[in-house]
Amino acid sequence: MFDAKLVDEPARVAALRRYDVLDTPAEAPFDKITNLVRTVLGVPMSAVSLIDSDRQWLKSHPGLDGNETSRDVAFCDYTIRAREPLVVNDASTDARFRDNPHVVGDPNILSYAGVPLETPDGYNIGSLCAIDTCRREFDAAHIEILKGLAALVVDQLELRRIAERDHLSGALTRRAFVAELDKAISLNIRHGRPSALVLLDIDHFKSINDSHGHPVGDLAIRAVADCFARMKRPADAFGRVGGEEFALLLPEIGEDDALIAAERYRSAIADIRIDHDPPFGITASFGVAALSDERANSEIWLADADAALYDAKRSGRNCVRRAVPAPRTIAA
Ligand code: GH3
Ligand code: MG
Ligand code: MG
Repeated sequence: MFDAKLVDEPARVAALRRYDVLDTPAEAPFDKITNLVRTVLGVPMSAVSLIDSDRQWLKSHPGLDGNETSRDVAFCDYTIRAREPLVVNDASTDARFRDNPHVVGDPNILSYAGVPLETPDGYNIGSLCAIDTCRREFDAAHIEILKGLAALVVDQLELRRIAERDHLSGALTRRAFVAELDKAISLNIRHGRPSALVLLDIDHFKSINDSHGHPVGDLAIRAVADCFARMKRPADAFGRVGGEEFALLLPEIGEDDALIAAERYRSAIADIRIDHDPPFGITASFGVAALSDERANSEIWLADADAALYDAKRSGRNCVRRAVPAPRTIAA
């Protein structure tokens, strides 16, 4: 039967990218699953393999070296073309695989069982697989277990995605945003790439709740988040880091440009009218801190932006302030 979702490659890649999982560090839940595969099926290697547009990337790969291969040598690229598991008992006699560099060379794959990782909306984004260096039959009970564990991998990807987004505003959660700061810091250390952090806090928010009620306060939080979602660039990370506190990470930008950007957002928020009877306006105060050697730690970076934000509050609110350079600790 024709299955449109198995051949719609752009939609399949989009479904994979929505998980924001490619090139992320190892995570224990995935490693627990692949290690279970090794124990239960008695194989030396297992992987959570994700098939990107032109490469295979492994989220978990106990027993296997390296976490990336080109797509054309990936067994899992065959697995994702069907709804059913792919079982290869002897790769050396299989025309699809006998010349594969991973069969004729390291890690000398001879048998393989892979179950597609099917998203809730029906796209095969990769596979959970068991790999051995000897010929073998996989019995039906083991394939059923592999199917169950593949479903758990997809559940875990879904949970991971939910945990990263704040339900009310759609912004990244504080935890996910801090992970973006950490990425920016390591890019800065390795490649000297600049970036700047803009922190903002809605002014007199408590009085909005007190005068209009909590649900209207929620409307104001959403209005601010929508304003950022509309104005920000795709590469900018936007997070809700506190109740009525948000943060924007601007990659490839220094402090002066970040101040200009923050001023644009300040002015856009001051133009918001909350649809209430009567409608009312809101403002926010901003602190800006560019990444620097003294801020090569997300807590310090956030604290410096927060100090600038506090400065903006003291200066009368509805304004932008830059962080003062953090004092250097002089080694004795
Ligand atoms: P300032 O200008 O100094 O920032 O004053 P403020 O009133 O905004 O500051 P404060 O930190 O005293 O108040 C923040 C309030 O935000 C208190 C808290 O009840 C409210 N809040 C936190 N999270 C939410 C939320 O999700 N929804 C609503 N409606 N209110 C929230
Ligand atoms: Mg606050
Ligand atoms: Mg506030």
